Amino acid sequence: QLYNQIQEAKGNIRVFCRCRPLSKEEASAGYATVVDFNANKDGELGILTGGSTKRLYKFDRVYSPKDDQVDVFADASPMVTSVLDGYNVCIFAYGQTGTGKTFTMEGIEQNRGVNYRTLEQLFKIAEERKEIFIYKISVSVLEVYNEQIRDLLATSPTSKKLEIRKASEGVHHVPGIVEAKVDNIKEAWDVLQAGSNARAVGSNNVNEHSSRSHCMLCIMVGAKNLINGECTQSKLWLVDLAGSERLAKTEAQGDRLKEAQNINRSLSSLGDVISALASKSSHIPYRNSKLTHLLQDSLGGDSKTLMFVQISPSEQDFGETQSSLNFATRVR
Ligand code: ADP
Ligand code: MG
Repeated sequence: QLYNQIQEAKGNIRVFCRCRPLSKEEASAGYATVVDFNANKDGELGILTGGSTKRLYKFDRVYSPKDDQVDVFADASPMVTSVLDGYNVCIFAYGQTGTGKTFTMEGIEQNRGVNYRTLEQLFKIAEERKEIFIYKISVSVLEVYNEQIRDLLATSPTSKKLEIRKASEGVHHVPGIVEAKVDNIKEAWDVLQAGSNARAVGSNNVNEHSSRSHCMLCIMVGAKNLINGECTQSKLWLVDLAGSERLAKTEAQGDRLKEAQNINRSLSSLGDVISALASKSSHIPYRNSKLTHLLQDSLGGDSKTLMFVQISPSEQDFGETQSSLNFATRVR
C-alpha cells in the first residue's frame, strides 16, 4: 500500500539495481559476496552488514548476476518505446567504476546492451507503424569531461566551446553538434562505433578516461502522424555516467582532484535534480552542472526517467556499494 503510494508520488522515475558477477580474480582472492538476492521479492535487495544482519533496499527491479542483457532490456523497453509516442526519456547507469555501467549501456560485441537494443527496437516499431507514422531518427554522441562538452561525432576538432542553449520552452540544444541521421540499425551501429572510437582519441588510458567522463548518447525522434498531420519531436538520452567512487586520499591533488570535484558536482546535482522532482519541489536545479543542464528536457515534466544503480557483490567494495545504494534511495 505504502509502496504504491510512493510509486505514484514519484511519478515517472524508476530505479533498477543490477549486480555484476564476482570476478575470477575476486573469487580466487577469496572475497565473499555481501549481496543477498534471497530477499529479491518485489525488487528487494539485501546487503549483509556483518554477522547475520542485513539491510534491505527496495527497487523497482533487482537483477542478480544470473540476469542477462535480454532480461534487463525487456524491463526497459516500454520506456524506450514511449519516445515514439512523443515522450522524452532518460536512461542512465550510475555506480562505482567496474560495476558494469558500460556493460549495461553499451554491452559487449557478442552481448549488446541497452544502447544498441534501444535503436534496434525503435527501428522495428517504426517499421510496424509505417502506415500511420513517418519517423525520422538522428543521434548525437557527446562526452562531458571536466564540465566541458565534447562532440564525439565531430569530424574535425573545433576550438569553439560547445554550450547549451534554450531554443524554446522545454527544448534545449547544443548549437553546432553533429546530429547524424540514421535510417536503419546498421547505420546507427556505425555511428555508435564512430563515437566510441572518437572517445579513445587523445587519451593515453581509455578506461581511466571513460571512468572519469560521462558518455551521452542522444536519440532524437521526429514523428509525423499521417492521419491527423500532427508532428512531434522527442528525445531519448542514454547515459553511461562517470564512476561514482570517492577519491583516495593519496590522489587528492592536481588534475585528478579537479576531475574528481567535477564528477562529484555533476553526480550530486543529478541526485539533487531527481530528488527535487520526486518531492515535487518548485525549483529544480538543472543548471548546476553540464550533465543535468543537457538532460533537462528529459528529466521532469511528463518525461520518463530510468536509473540503473550498478553494484559489485564483493565485500571489498562494500563501502562504495552502500554509498551507491544510498544515492539510489535518495532519488526514489
Ligand atoms: P564500468 O563501466 O561500471 O566501469 P564495466 O561495464 O566496464 O564497468 O564492467 C567491468 C567488467 O565486468 C567488464 O569486464 C564487464 O564485461 C564485466 N561485467 C559487468 N557486468 C557484468 C554482467 N552483468 N555479467 C557479466 N560480466 C559483467
Ligand atoms: Mg565504463
